[in-house]
Amino acid sequence: MKIAFLGLGNMGLPMARNLLKAGHEVVGFDVVAAQATRLAEAGGKTAAAAGDAVAGAEVVFTMLPAGQHVLEAYAGPGGILARCRPDALLVDCSTIAPATAREVAAAARARGVAMLDAPVSGGVGGAEGGTLTFMVGGAEADLARARPLLEKMGKNVFHAGAPGAGQVVKMCNNMLLGIQMAGTCEALRLGIAYGLDPARLSEIMGKSSGRNWALEVYNPCPGVMPGVPASRGYSGGFSTALMLKDLKLAAEGATATGTATPLGRMARDLYQAHADGGAAGKDFSSLFEDPAAAAALLAKLG
Ligand code: NAD
Repeated sequence: MKIAFLGLGNMGLPMARNLLKAGHEVVGFDVVAAQATRLAEAGGKTAAAAGDAVAGAEVVFTMLPAGQHVLEAYAGPGGILARCRPDALLVDCSTIAPATAREVAAAARARGVAMLDAPVSGGVGGAEGGTLTFMVGGAEADLARARPLLEKMGKNVFHAGAPGAGQVVKMCNNMLLGIQMAGTCEALRLGIAYGLDPARLSEIMGKSSGRNWALEVYNPCPGVMPGVPASRGYSGGFSTALMLKDLKLAAEGATATGTATPLGRMARDLYQAHADGGAAGKDFSSLFEDPAAAAALLAKLG
């Protein structure tokens, strides 16, 4: 298949490489030319502009930082909607607000072009290993077209519902993850304050009702678990900045729908204080080593 892939960053580049490995023709574009060069080194083609990349493509993937980049890339002058084939399938994998996803999908529909929102879970490791989970919003028939390609980049592909529904699932999942990570950091710090060994504490809680992904798979305490960001200075992984972005999206979603999410908002405030303290670029599990962020939130709550 002829595929265009726009946004070749931490996630997009390894995803596009997996499509190349599966034998597809991939034309890549990134506003940072060096990123596109890295795709060319893996056997892909590059284009000088987004419109040139999508012009002949049967399927267009985008993996961009945030909603404003997605709006600009699709609906901006000379963008994807202006240049894509009328029979193309457009798949946005970025994490953005459901309302923005619906807006772009409606603009695509107005031109008769099929579009899916397909945000992912699984991080850079999942993108490299082709084991991502895709949460897809849009028509089932369009997902059936995309599925063989998504299965080259992920091992779980779920239809969530109508346009924007993939983004709703992603928002709910990451709000819960942020809350779980914050709670896991608190529980570990409390046990350590009593002199307990964090590895033993984690092992016992992992076989008890406090068990969760942050504790068992992504332990935030350095030295408890090999191979996780906490055991390599909180480098790599999923940044505090991206978690903060997702918690802000969840808070906006809660306001838009009139849903009370006090824990989600507190997690957002914790991560805001953590980022303000200089940890924006560190993995989000670094909240563990920042009790000052927790103290700042307590002071704010009074
Ligand atoms: P990134 O910043 O590494 O990559 C984004 C890339 O998009 C950059 O290379 C940037 O130059 C490029 N870009 C920006 N505007 C563009 C445009 N108009 N046209 C073409 N390229 C453009 O970000 P990332 O970590 O790859 O994340 C991408 C998306 O995936 C985000 O929405 C993020 O929330 C989501 N996500 C990330 C992770 C993760 O662990 N990193 C996990 C799940 C979801």
